[in-house]
Amino acid sequence: MEPSLACKRALVTGAGKGIGRATAKALLACGVEVIAVTRTQSDLDSLVQECPKMLTICVDISNWEATENALKDVGPIDLLVNNAAVSILEPFLEVTQEAFDKLFNVNVKAVLHVSQIIAKGMKCRGEGGAIVNVSSQASQCALKDHAVYCATKGAVDMLTKVMALELGPHKIRVNTVNPTVVMTALGRIAWSDPVKSAGMLSRIPMGKFAEVEDVVNAIIFLLSDKSAMINGVTLPVDGGFLAS
Ligand code: NAP
Repeated sequence: MEPSLACKRALVTGAGKGIGRATAKALLACGVEVIAVTRTQSDLDSLVQECPKMLTICVDISNWEATENALKDVGPIDLLVNNAAVSILEPFLEVTQEAFDKLFNVNVKAVLHVSQIIAKGMKCRGEGGAIVNVSSQASQCALKDHAVYCATKGAVDMLTKVMALELGPHKIRVNTVNPTVVMTALGRIAWSDPVKSAGMLSRIPMGKFAEVEDVVNAIIFLLSDKSAMINGVTLPVDGGFLAS
Protein backbone atom coordinates (compact mmCIF):
# COMPACT_ATOMS: atom_id res chain seq x y z
CA MET A 1 0.00 0.00 0.00
CA GLU A 2 1.43 3.39 -1.02
CA PRO A 3 -0.64 6.27 0.43
CA SER A 4 0.55 8.88 -2.11
CA LEU A 5 -1.17 6.91 -4.89
CA ALA A 6 -4.65 6.81 -3.37
CA CYS A 7 -7.39 8.45 -5.46
CA LYS A 8 -5.13 8.84 -8.50
CA ARG A 9 -6.04 7.51 -11.96
CA ALA A 10 -3.69 5.16 -13.81
CA LEU A 11 -3.48 3.61 -17.24
CA VAL A 12 -1.49 0.38 -17.70
CA THR A 13 -0.79 -1.07 -21.16
CA GLY A 14 -0.34 -4.80 -21.66
CA ALA A 15 -2.47 -5.38 -18.57
CA GLY A 16 -3.89 -8.69 -19.79
CA LYS A 17 -1.04 -10.89 -18.66
CA GLY A 18 2.22 -11.01 -16.71
CA ILE A 19 3.77 -7.87 -15.24
CA GLY A 20 1.12 -5.50 -16.59
CA ARG A 21 -1.76 -7.49 -15.14
CA ALA A 22 -0.05 -7.68 -11.72
CA THR A 23 0.75 -3.94 -11.85
CA ALA A 24 -2.88 -3.06 -12.61
CA LYS A 25 -4.05 -5.20 -9.67
CA ALA A 26 -1.41 -3.75 -7.30
CA LEU A 27 -2.39 -0.18 -8.23
CA LEU A 28 -6.06 -0.98 -7.64
CA ALA A 29 -5.12 -2.33 -4.21
CA CYS A 30 -3.45 1.05 -3.49
CA GLY A 31 -6.76 2.85 -4.05
CA VAL A 32 -5.97 3.93 -7.61
CA GLU A 33 -8.64 3.96 -10.33
CA VAL A 34 -7.05 1.77 -12.99
CA ILE A 35 -7.67 1.53 -16.71
CA ALA A 36 -6.28 -1.76 -17.98
CA VAL A 37 -5.40 -1.71 -21.68
CA THR A 38 -4.65 -4.76 -23.78
CA ARG A 39 -5.59 -6.34 -27.10
CA THR A 40 -7.21 -9.62 -25.96
CA GLN A 41 -10.77 -9.14 -24.66
CA SER A 42 -10.86 -12.47 -22.78
CA ASP A 43 -7.91 -11.31 -20.64
CA LEU A 44 -9.83 -8.16 -19.73
CA ASP A 45 -12.96 -10.19 -18.97
CA SER A 46 -11.09 -12.43 -16.53
CA LEU A 47 -9.39 -9.36 -14.98
CA VAL A 48 -12.75 -7.71 -14.31
CA GLN A 49 -14.04 -10.98 -12.89
CA GLU A 50 -11.12 -10.96 -10.43
CA CYS A 51 -11.28 -7.19 -9.79
CA PRO A 52 -14.77 -5.78 -10.48
CA LYS A 53 -13.56 -2.17 -10.08
CA MET A 54 -11.06 -2.48 -12.93
CA LEU A 55 -11.85 -0.30 -15.98
CA THR A 56 -10.76 -1.72 -19.32
CA ILE A 57 -10.00 -0.75 -22.88
CA CYS A 58 -9.40 -3.36 -25.57
CA VAL A 59 -7.12 -2.04 -28.31
CA ASP A 60 -4.03 -3.08 -30.22
CA ILE A 61 -1.71 -0.20 -29.34
CA SER A 62 0.41 -0.81 -32.43
CA ASN A 63 -2.55 0.55 -34.45
CA TRP A 64 -2.09 4.35 -34.30
CA GLU A 65 -5.64 5.37 -35.29
CA ALA A 66 -7.37 2.73 -33.16
CA THR A 67 -5.31 3.84 -30.15
CA GLU A 68 -6.12 7.50 -30.76
CA ASN A 69 -9.82 6.58 -30.86
CA ALA A 70 -9.75 4.26 -27.88
CA LEU A 71 -7.96 6.75 -25.60
CA LYS A 72 -9.65 9.99 -26.65
CA ASP A 73 -12.25 9.87 -23.86
CA VAL A 74 -10.07 8.26 -21.23
CA GLY A 75 -10.28 11.27 -18.90
CA PRO A 76 -7.57 12.59 -16.58
CA ILE A 77 -4.66 10.22 -15.99
CA ASP A 78 -2.01 10.84 -13.29
CA LEU A 79 0.02 7.65 -13.72
CA LEU A 80 0.98 5.81 -16.89
CA VAL A 81 2.72 2.44 -17.18
CA ASN A 82 3.89 1.64 -20.71
CA ASN A 83 4.32 -2.09 -20.21
CA ALA A 84 3.06 -3.87 -23.36
CA ALA A 85 5.79 -5.42 -25.49
CA VAL A 86 6.42 -8.38 -27.74
CA SER A 87 9.47 -10.49 -28.51
CA ILE A 88 10.58 -12.49 -31.54
CA LEU A 89 13.92 -14.25 -31.33
CA GLU A 90 16.02 -14.51 -34.49
CA PRO A 91 19.76 -14.73 -35.15
CA PHE A 92 20.99 -11.34 -36.35
CA LEU A 93 21.65 -12.52 -39.92
CA GLU A 94 18.09 -13.86 -40.20
CA VAL A 95 16.18 -10.87 -38.80
CA THR A 96 13.20 -10.10 -41.03
CA GLN A 97 11.66 -6.76 -41.89
CA GLU A 98 8.36 -8.06 -40.53
CA ALA A 99 9.82 -8.86 -37.10
CA PHE A 100 11.66 -5.53 -36.98
CA ASP A 101 8.49 -3.55 -37.76
CA LYS A 102 6.31 -5.56 -35.39
CA LEU A 103 8.66 -5.15 -32.42
CA PHE A 104 9.39 -1.47 -33.01
CA ASN A 105 5.68 -0.72 -33.52
CA VAL A 106 4.65 -2.21 -30.17
CA ASN A 107 7.76 -1.77 -28.02
CA VAL A 108 8.75 1.77 -29.08
CA LYS A 109 6.28 3.57 -31.34
CA ALA A 110 3.29 2.75 -29.12
CA VAL A 111 5.19 3.91 -26.02
CA LEU A 112 5.78 7.25 -27.72
CA HIS A 113 2.19 7.52 -28.96
CA VAL A 114 0.38 6.50 -25.76
CA SER A 115 2.71 8.77 -23.77
CA GLN A 116 1.98 11.71 -26.09
CA ILE A 117 -1.77 11.27 -25.64
CA ILE A 118 -1.56 10.95 -21.85
CA ALA A 119 1.18 13.53 -21.23
CA LYS A 120 -0.71 16.18 -23.23
CA GLY A 121 -3.58 15.79 -20.75
CA MET A 122 -1.18 15.88 -17.78
CA LYS A 123 0.43 19.06 -19.11
CA CYS A 124 -2.95 20.75 -19.71
CA ARG A 125 -4.18 20.01 -16.20
CA GLY A 126 -0.90 21.29 -14.71
CA GLU A 127 -0.93 18.83 -11.82
CA GLY A 128 2.01 16.74 -13.02
CA GLY A 129 2.19 12.99 -13.20
CA ALA A 130 4.46 9.97 -13.39
CA ILE A 131 5.22 7.66 -16.28
CA VAL A 132 7.06 4.34 -16.03
CA ASN A 133 8.25 2.64 -19.18
CA VAL A 134 8.96 -1.06 -18.79
CA SER A 135 12.32 -1.65 -20.45
CA SER A 136 14.69 -4.59 -19.85
CA GLN A 137 18.24 -5.55 -18.94
CA ALA A 138 18.35 -6.27 -22.69
CA SER A 139 18.52 -2.51 -23.30
CA GLN A 140 22.04 -2.40 -21.93
CA CYS A 141 23.49 -5.87 -22.53
CA ALA A 142 23.69 -7.88 -25.76
CA LEU A 143 21.75 -11.14 -25.68
CA LYS A 144 22.08 -13.76 -28.43
CA ASP A 145 19.13 -13.82 -30.89
CA HIS A 146 17.72 -10.65 -29.29
CA ALA A 147 19.01 -8.08 -31.82
CA VAL A 148 15.68 -6.37 -32.44
CA TYR A 149 14.31 -6.79 -28.90
CA CYS A 150 17.55 -5.32 -27.46
CA ALA A 151 17.36 -2.45 -29.97
CA THR A 152 13.75 -1.68 -29.00
CA LYS A 153 14.59 -1.59 -25.31
CA GLY A 154 17.67 0.58 -25.94
CA ALA A 155 15.33 2.93 -27.77
CA VAL A 156 12.90 2.90 -24.82
CA ASP A 157 15.69 3.89 -22.40
CA MET A 158 16.73 6.83 -24.57
CA LEU A 159 13.14 7.86 -25.34
CA THR A 160 12.54 7.89 -21.58
CA LYS A 161 15.46 10.26 -20.96
CA VAL A 162 14.23 12.73 -23.58
CA MET A 163 10.69 12.51 -22.19
CA ALA A 164 12.11 13.20 -18.72
CA LEU A 165 13.97 16.22 -20.08
CA GLU A 166 10.97 17.71 -21.89
CA LEU A 167 8.19 16.75 -19.47
CA GLY A 168 10.06 17.43 -16.22
CA PRO A 169 9.28 21.19 -16.38
CA HIS A 170 5.58 20.19 -16.36
CA LYS A 171 6.08 18.15 -13.14
CA ILE A 172 5.82 14.91 -15.11
CA ARG A 173 8.50 12.37 -14.13
CA VAL A 174 9.47 9.62 -16.58
CA ASN A 175 11.59 6.59 -15.66
CA THR A 176 12.16 2.98 -16.71
CA VAL A 177 12.38 -0.29 -14.86
CA ASN A 178 14.80 -2.75 -16.46
CA PRO A 179 14.03 -6.27 -15.28
CA THR A 180 16.08 -9.40 -15.78
CA VAL A 181 14.21 -12.56 -16.82
CA VAL A 182 10.73 -13.00 -15.33
CA MET A 183 9.00 -16.28 -16.12
CA THR A 184 5.90 -14.82 -17.74
CA ALA A 185 4.58 -15.86 -21.18
CA LEU A 186 7.13 -13.49 -22.73
CA GLY A 187 9.97 -14.69 -20.49
CA ARG A 188 9.25 -18.29 -21.39
CA ILE A 189 9.78 -17.56 -25.13
CA ALA A 190 13.48 -17.03 -24.47
CA TRP A 191 14.29 -18.83 -21.24
CA SER A 192 12.27 -22.04 -20.84
CA ASP A 193 15.17 -24.14 -22.19
CA PRO A 194 16.99 -25.21 -18.98
CA VAL A 195 20.44 -25.02 -20.63
CA LYS A 196 19.88 -21.42 -21.76
CA SER A 197 18.31 -20.39 -18.46
CA ALA A 198 21.21 -21.93 -16.48
CA GLY A 199 23.63 -19.78 -18.54
CA MET A 200 21.63 -16.64 -17.71
CA LEU A 201 21.21 -17.57 -14.04
CA SER A 202 24.97 -17.98 -13.69
CA ARG A 203 25.40 -14.31 -14.74
CA ILE A 204 22.96 -12.96 -12.11
CA PRO A 205 24.78 -12.35 -8.81
CA MET A 206 21.61 -13.07 -6.81
CA GLY A 207 21.41 -16.46 -8.55
CA LYS A 208 17.71 -16.22 -9.45
CA PHE A 209 15.32 -14.66 -11.92
CA ALA A 210 13.02 -11.80 -10.87
CA GLU A 211 9.50 -12.48 -9.70
CA VAL A 212 6.64 -10.46 -11.18
CA GLU A 213 6.21 -8.84 -7.75
CA ASP A 214 9.83 -7.56 -7.76
CA VAL A 215 9.10 -5.61 -10.94
CA VAL A 216 5.69 -4.40 -9.73
CA ASN A 217 7.26 -3.05 -6.50
CA ALA A 218 9.80 -1.05 -8.51
CA ILE A 219 7.06 0.35 -10.77
CA ILE A 220 4.93 1.36 -7.78
CA PHE A 221 7.94 3.09 -6.21
CA LEU A 222 8.64 5.08 -9.39
CA LEU A 223 4.97 6.08 -9.67
CA SER A 224 4.74 7.18 -6.04
CA ASP A 225 5.87 10.32 -4.23
CA LYS A 226 8.65 8.22 -2.61
CA SER A 227 10.53 8.83 -5.87
CA ALA A 228 9.49 12.50 -6.16
CA MET A 229 12.98 13.67 -7.27
CA ILE A 230 13.78 10.68 -9.51
CA ASN A 231 13.42 11.52 -13.19
CA GLY A 232 15.04 10.01 -16.29
CA VAL A 233 16.58 6.96 -14.62
CA THR A 234 16.81 3.38 -15.84
CA LEU A 235 16.29 1.22 -12.75
CA PRO A 236 17.60 -2.35 -13.07
CA VAL A 237 15.53 -5.02 -11.31
CA ASP A 238 18.06 -7.67 -12.18
CA GLY A 239 19.73 -9.11 -9.09
CA GLY A 240 22.94 -7.37 -10.16
CA PHE A 241 23.13 -8.71 -13.76
CA LEU A 242 24.03 -5.32 -15.27
CA ALA A 243 26.58 -4.62 -12.55
CA SER A 244 28.58 -7.77 -13.22
P1 NAP B 1 3.52 -10.93 -21.28
O1 NAP B 1 3.25 -11.85 -20.14
O2 NAP B 1 3.69 -11.49 -22.64
O3 NAP B 1 2.41 -9.78 -21.28
C1 NAP B 1 2.44 -8.77 -22.23
C2 NAP B 1 1.07 -8.12 -22.31
O4 NAP B 1 1.14 -7.08 -23.30
C3 NAP B 1 0.00 -9.10 -22.79
O5 NAP B 1 -1.20 -8.87 -22.10
C4 NAP B 1 -0.13 -8.74 -24.27
O6 NAP B 1 -1.38 -9.07 -24.83
C5 NAP B 1 0.05 -7.23 -24.20
N1 NAP B 1 0.35 -6.69 -25.53
C6 NAP B 1 1.34 -7.07 -26.36
N2 NAP B 1 1.25 -6.40 -27.51
C7 NAP B 1 0.19 -5.55 -27.40
C8 NAP B 1 -0.41 -4.62 -28.27
N3 NAP B 1 0.06 -4.42 -29.51
N4 NAP B 1 -1.48 -3.92 -27.84
C9 NAP B 1 -1.98 -4.12 -26.59
N5 NAP B 1 -1.46 -5.01 -25.73
C10 NAP B 1 -0.38 -5.73 -26.13
O7 NAP B 1 4.88 -10.09 -21.01
P2 NAP B 1 5.61 -9.66 -19.64
O8 NAP B 1 6.73 -10.60 -19.42
O9 NAP B 1 4.64 -9.39 -18.57
O10 NAP B 1 6.28 -8.30 -20.15
C11 NAP B 1 5.86 -7.04 -19.72
C12 NAP B 1 6.98 -6.05 -19.97
O11 NAP B 1 8.16 -6.47 -19.26
C13 NAP B 1 7.41 -5.92 -21.43
O12 NAP B 1 7.70 -4.58 -21.72
C14 NAP B 1 8.67 -6.76 -21.51
O13 NAP B 1 9.52 -6.36 -22.55
C15 NAP B 1 9.27 -6.46 -20.14
N6 NAP B 1 10.25 -7.44 -19.68
C16 NAP B 1 9.90 -8.74 -19.53
C17 NAP B 1 10.86 -9.65 -19.10
C18 NAP B 1 10.55 -11.10 -18.93
O14 NAP B 1 11.50 -11.91 -18.83
N7 NAP B 1 9.30 -11.49 -18.85
C19 NAP B 1 12.17 -9.22 -18.83
C20 NAP B 1 12.48 -7.87 -18.99
C21 NAP B 1 11.50 -6.98 -19.42
P3 NAP B 1 -1.56 -10.43 -25.71
O15 NAP B 1 -1.14 -11.56 -24.83
O16 NAP B 1 -2.99 -10.42 -26.03
O17 NAP B 1 -0.65 -10.28 -26.90
